[in-house]
Amino acid sequence: MRRPFFALSLGACLALLLGLVISAILFVSVRRLEHDKAAIDFQQHAQLRVAAVRESIDRSIHILGNINQLFGSFGDVSREQFRSFTAPLLARLPYVQNFAFHRILPDAERASYEERMRASYPDFVITEIDKGVRVPAQSRPFYRVVDYVEPLQGNEAALGFDAASNDLQTDAMRRAVDTGLPAATAPIRLVQEKGSQRGIVVLMAVYRFGAVLTDVASRRAAVIGDTATVFRGQDLIDKALAEGHALIADRNVDMHISVYASAVPSEATLIYRNGADLNAGEATTWLSGWLFYDRPAPYRYDFDVAGQAWHMVVSAPPRFFLDGGWGALWAFIAGVLFSIGGAVYLHTLIGRSRRIQLVVEERTAQLQALNEELGADIAARRRAEQALQLRERAIEASANAIIITEAVAPHYPIEYVNPAFERITGYTEAEVIGRDSCFLWGDDTEQAGIEEVRAAVAELREGHAVLRSYRKDGSMFWSDIYIAPVRDENGVVSHFVSAQYDITATKRYESELEFQTNRDALTGLANRNLLRDRLGQAISFAYRYGNPIWVMFVDLDRFKFVNDTLGHQAGDTLLKAVASRLQSCLRETDTVSRVGGDEFVLVLNERTDAGLTTNIVQRLMDAIAKPLDIHGHEFFISCSIGVAVYPADGETPEDLLRHADIAMYRAKETGRNNFQFYTSTMNEKAMERLRFEGDLRNALEREEFVLHYQPQIDLQTGEIVGVEALIRWQHPELGMVPPARFIGLAEETGLIVPIGAWVIRTACMQNKAWQLSDVGPLRMSVNLSARQFAHNDLVESVAQALDEAQLEPQYLEIELTESLVMADVERAIGVLRELKALGVQLSIDDFGTGYSSLSYLKRFPIDVLKIDRSFVNDITTDPDDAAIVSTIISLAHGLRLLVIAEGVETAEQLGYLRQHDCDQMQGYFFSPPVSADALARMRKEGKRLPIPTTGSLL
Ligand code: C2E
Ligand code: CA
Ligand code: CA
Repeated sequence: MRRPFFALSLGACLALLLGLVISAILFVSVRRLEHDKAAIDFQQHAQLRVAAVRESIDRSIHILGNINQLFGSFGDVSREQFRSFTAPLLARLPYVQNFAFHRILPDAERASYEERMRASYPDFVITEIDKGVRVPAQSRPFYRVVDYVEPLQGNEAALGFDAASNDLQTDAMRRAVDTGLPAATAPIRLVQEKGSQRGIVVLMAVYRFGAVLTDVASRRAAVIGDTATVFRGQDLIDKALAEGHALIADRNVDMHISVYASAVPSEATLIYRNGADLNAGEATTWLSGWLFYDRPAPYRYDFDVAGQAWHMVVSAPPRFFLDGGWGALWAFIAGVLFSIGGAVYLHTLIGRSRRIQLVVEERTAQLQALNEELGADIAARRRAEQALQLRERAIEASANAIIITEAVAPHYPIEYVNPAFERITGYTEAEVIGRDSCFLWGDDTEQAGIEEVRAAVAELREGHAVLRSYRKDGSMFWSDIYIAPVRDENGVVSHFVSAQYDITATKRYESELEFQTNRDALTGLANRNLLRDRLGQAISFAYRYGNPIWVMFVDLDRFKFVNDTLGHQAGDTLLKAVASRLQSCLRETDTVSRVGGDEFVLVLNERTDAGLTTNIVQRLMDAIAKPLDIHGHEFFISCSIGVAVYPADGETPEDLLRHADIAMYRAKETGRNNFQFYTSTMNEKAMERLRFEGDLRNALEREEFVLHYQPQIDLQTGEIVGVEALIRWQHPELGMVPPARFIGLAEETGLIVPIGAWVIRTACMQNKAWQLSDVGPLRMSVNLSARQFAHNDLVESVAQALDEAQLEPQYLEIELTESLVMADVERAIGVLRELKALGVQLSIDDFGTGYSSLSYLKRFPIDVLKIDRSFVNDITTDPDDAAIVSTIISLAHGLRLLVIAEGVETAEQLGYLRQHDCDQMQGYFFSPPVSADALARMRKEGKRLPIPTTGSLL
């Protein structure tokens, strides 16, 4: 984590703190020293002052001594002498109030003295002070008269004053006499002075000239007077200090000085005072104490002034420490600065060491990362090596041949082959190294793939080809070759690697598959796929050479019949036989294909050797028409063929196939067993059919269908007993279309189911309507198609139609064809039983055309059997048919079935049927199918079949 820029490190803080503490201690110490020095200084200054004062006093006293000596040296000193001697002294010593000579005068000499003095001073008299007033002195044994006084001016009053009257001097005088030394008095008020200044009188005895002074007595005896000087105390000390200051040059030092003329300071003896005395002992706080203030102890000095004890006090006011010098502060500031500097230095030092540490850590991390990278690198390299080894091993283990060739044109020598190569080709590695890799193709160099391989190599790109290659033993194998350039580290192609897959097996499988996808499994003929291919190829070939192609659509006639009657196996045998017959008729270059159940398409190319003629078609038909033995049965089959010719009838396979198909239909329409060439009119018909189909889809919706009803007559009574509902289509353009033209199409398209349902519904309604009208009850027959019968909803829809019409079921009859019920007998039985359970009647239509035996019919719950028109038609001409009809009638009656003959057109036919006990008839002979109205009319008119009289029986 990054610390804030300004944060001091703990070390720096401690250093700073320590520095500050040291600074403080330094400050205190320096202050202590300063303080002590200040005390010493002060003492020195004080002592200097004391010395100055003493010196000054001593000098003054000394001068007094000089004056006194004047008397000692000259004996008698005249007034003039005294004046001249003292005058310069007075000028020099301004603090001297006066110099005086006191003459001791016995009372006896008073008068003469006064007399003598009056000569100079007319009113002269010896005086004394009484209560502040100068008065003539009282008579005393001795006077001590102020004889000389200098300066006289201002001291006139003192002249003649009896100093002995002044008690203050008495003591000093005695000491002066006794010692011969100067003696000072206590301070006195100076009479002459204005102000409060006190004076000191210093006396010195004057002895008789020439007296021997050995002891006190001799001194007392020899004393004749004294010399005195009066100092103005304050002036004296002022002067002394002034001189002293000059000497010590510290005038500015603020010092308080007091001088007392006594051993114990007292206001009474105060001579001099400059500022109050200061006491050092007063209480101080630490702030005002010595730490910040110099507070030296007052200097006290006791000394002797002419035998008098004096006391001097020198003190100083507390002085703020800065006034005495900046030393401590500087020391402190220096200390603090040094501390800060130190702290900062330490901080940077710590910071640097931290940065160094960080750098070291970073480097370490980098180194570690580098290490890891290196490790990863090594691991990656190892992996790469392993991967390489793995790849090598994988190449070795590969199941496919791998060949590495040098990229050296033109031979591209082989440098490496893997074991699979050896296995596949049979060549050993030693045999192929250095050889041109093309050798595998042997002489088979005309392969398209080789070009691709060569191109890929030349263009240095990947290539792919499927090639025939040859093994050492000469056998061919298919190889799927992938070739790719291999680049060296500089991106230059140095080698080619090719992987060869032996796809021989795959090729085989492919061709099998191809056969399967292109061949018809049953006959081995080409199927629709291959046909399309071949036809396409043939067209492109024919287009190039201008040859025609014939496309023939062959459809077997009545093949369904074989399949239905003899089973699928027989059908298959038949198809195979037809296939081989078709093939045998054609050349190998022609294509024979099977495209549907019994549909074959042939593609015939015209070759220069033989043109295409209808002979070929005839030959084909003949070949197919040959009798065929299937499961011991001899069969005759025919076919219908449609031919479309390229390019006249179409230029695409689709067109040609479609047109051949149309032509084949046409052939079928024109009676089977023939062939038709496609014409454009056929196409029109086919187109018409398409249109027709479209119309049919809409017919139901447009209500274009109607039902016509053909009466069925009971041959016993001649009465109409039933009708068959037959559908018609009122086409808007084509008019009334018969069912034969659209029922088949409706079957194919599935439209028959809704159409059939409509028929049943309409028939039931109509029948009910007739029952309710005067037409009366009739049996209504409805035809059912195979598609309808197969539909699961059949029974339900019939029941619904009955229900809707409220028609009793016995009035509805359903007609089924033989083939319809024979297709799936078990199911048919089930459906018929269900229908029967509804209560409806069931009949078998067109009986005789199918191949069911009558015995089968026993199993079906049917009521009516309708003999097909074709038999009825021929009963009068063909004895066989007549026999069949009579047999059917009797067998049906044996099964308790009602028999109806269809298509009765003539009286002869009717006669035969009556003769053989046929129950009912239906046919043009009585009536064609008619509209509902027409039928109603017929009933109303009572139309019936005339019953022949017995006589007219044939
Ligand atoms: P089918 O069931 O055999 O019907 C009888 C056919 O014979 C009718 O032809 C009828 O007109 C015709 N016919 C009747 N008497 C004579 C005669 O004396 N001489 C000749 N030559 N013909 C006679 P149609 O109406 O053209 O019907 C043809 C076929 O169409 C019917 O044959 C039937 O199979 C089918 N069909 C008609 N209506 C329906 C229908 O509603 N549903 C189904 N599924 N088929 C129908
Ligand atoms: Ca019918
Ligand atoms: Ca019929």
